[in-house]
Amino acid sequence: MNPSGWIVAVTILVLVGWVLAQPLLRPMRRGSAVPSEVSSLQAQVDQVIETMRELDFDYALGKISGEDYSPGRVALLARGAELLKELDPQRGLAARARSQQEESLEREIAARRKAPASPRLGSDQLEDEIRTRRRAPQGQKKEVGSRRAGLCSRCGQAIQVGDRFCPHCGVALNHAI
Ligand SMILES: [Zn+2]
Repeated sequence: MNPSGWIVAVTILVLVGWVLAQPLLRPMRRGSAVPSEVSSLQAQVDQVIETMRELDFDYALGKISGEDYSPGRVALLARGAELLKELDPQRGLAARARSQQEESLEREIAARRKAPASPRLGSDQLEDEIRTRRRAPQGQKKEVGSRRAGLCSRCGQAIQVGDRFCPHCGVALNHAI
């Protein structure tokens, strides 16, 4: 084999090696990021096909020997078949994922269409909210007022209803207050 034939053979082998190393360089995760995985697989298939074309071309021109050609081509074919096998279910998966997305979108749209616009309910809720807020401060004031039961007979500090002992001096309180 002449020197240029060696260069071509080495180039082809490097290309073949590079293509075969792809799955190792780019570990694929199954089940996630389906569309990008499909495009990456397709790129690899294209690479295999392109390398095979070059290999055939160089073999046809007599640039490489059958010794170099056959094993490289077999390896490329095997790799290509592997990729295509992986690609086919992936394509199915991607299509299914897309139809599921469309389905759920349709459901969402249908649900929104069905749900009646209910301004009455909304304003009722608002009224309730306003009433509750209006009531709250009054209730608090009343509660505070009712809890203050008087002054401790011993220390003169304020005591509250329900106190059994003065919180300040600790004297037992009689609840006649
Ligand atoms: Zn006291």
